[in-house]
Amino acid sequence: MAALQLLEERIRKDGKVFPGDVLKVDSFLNHQLDTELLEAVGAEIAARFSGLGVTKVLTTEASGIAIACFVAKYLHCPALFAKKAKTANIADGVWSANAHSYTHNNDYTMVVSKEYLGGHDTVLLTDDFLANGCALRALLEICKKAGAKVVGAGIAIEKEYQGGGNELRAEGLRIESMARIASMDAEDGISFC
Ligand code: 5GP
Repeated sequence: MAALQLLEERIRKDGKVFPGDVLKVDSFLNHQLDTELLEAVGAEIAARFSGLGVTKVLTTEASGIAIACFVAKYLHCPALFAKKAKTANIADGVWSANAHSYTHNNDYTMVVSKEYLGGHDTVLLTDDFLANGCALRALLEICKKAGAKVVGAGIAIEKEYQGGGNELRAEGLRIESMARIASMDAEDGISFC
């Protein structure tokens, strides 16, 4: 079965809708990990961005890391994750950007070592979820500061009705999302685009 179909079926079966537009997929995507499903989704994202000379797959800690590893495996390049830092701790040797956490509802700073990202890099961004687009925007800012080229973003689950993805597409970012949620609520469940 195709990766996208597998992912949609798993979301329907095991996804739980929580208040605040949060979809919990802890049983397979961001707490306990179904590595076969993640590998299939990662391979599909990699296939969509193959042949573009990607040298780094960039995500944020912690929940983007698993998917990034599989995408990077199929693009034969390293996975790199932005770390979360306290603003006061920002060192000279890092690229940094401020972000707002969707799930924790707080602000934080993402940092990536200058040692691992620079002007010679061609980057594919990836994440488990795309909601308002804040995490992707912070990663884009880090790439801009580093002078790295960004070929696009590969996302496992986009909550399309929240608009962040389409705003970024309108600004020219290529985004490939494996499951696109058109609407969701606890009573009516989840519907896909
Ligand atoms: P954004 O920055 O696009 O608003 O949200 C994306 C980030 O927030 C992702 O890195 C993801 O970890 C988290 N996130 C957003 N929506 C959800 C959700 O419905 N469920 C979970 N588990 N994480 C989410």
